[in-house]
Amino acid sequence: MAVDQNSEEKTALKRRGLMFILSSPSGAGKTTIARKLLAADDEINLSVSATTRPMRPGEVDGKDYHFVEQPHFDAMVEDHAFLEWAHVFGHSYGTPKAQIWNGMKEGRDFLFDIDWQGTQQLNQRASEDVVPVFILPPSIDELRRRLIARGTDAPKVIEARMERARAEISHWSEYRYVVVNDDVESCFAKVREILHAERMRRERQTGLVSFVRELMAGPPPGA
Ligand code: 5GP
Repeated sequence: MAVDQNSEEKTALKRRGLMFILSSPSGAGKTTIARKLLAADDEINLSVSATTRPMRPGEVDGKDYHFVEQPHFDAMVEDHAFLEWAHVFGHSYGTPKAQIWNGMKEGRDFLFDIDWQGTQQLNQRASEDVVPVFILPPSIDELRRRLIARGTDAPKVIEARMERARAEISHWSEYRYVVVNDDVESCFAKVREILHAERMRRERQTGLVSFVRELMAGPPPGA
């Protein structure tokens, strides 16, 4: 065990953090996938958004969202405190800058549960660090079934969410990766593979230059 840890330490090269975005229409399973990823992977942190929408039962302020009043949110917009922000379902949502920039500098990765508007803004600001993933439901009927099964919304709200889902899906082609969630375990496995592969991209591994220089500076064979 100790030997394995040592060898891992030796080859863990310095790298840049990445911004891993999961978007989907509500009901496609994005929240479940996000929770599984956060539980399974120590190197990724959730980007906690600020929102003006009311807290839902079970949500925790500061963990799921920073729940703020509209004037507070507007002041943050004025102060350029958001990396991106948007109106979604009649409420304001935004990603506070400070937590992300500081963590990224230390090589940590962040998971963003944001919509297509936020994805577009992050792509404009930091496209090299952004890994946008879109999760699709297996069918529209299945999406409606899942929204009804959640039991949290009135029929009118469900129809509004279906309308919004179609609008969200229309942005699928702006994402680098697209995964259909017909089975939560296999969808999760695919999302994890994307994260692992993106971490290995040469340009993210900033420690490679000095590592390879050292490799090449070794004594010639037979010396
Ligand atoms: P909910 O209110 O159900 O938690 O989220 C509604 C929608 O807002 C989801 O599609 C979610 O991805 C999106 N969202 C949450 N936080 C942010 C954010 O900081 N920025 C943007 N652009 N969208 C967000």
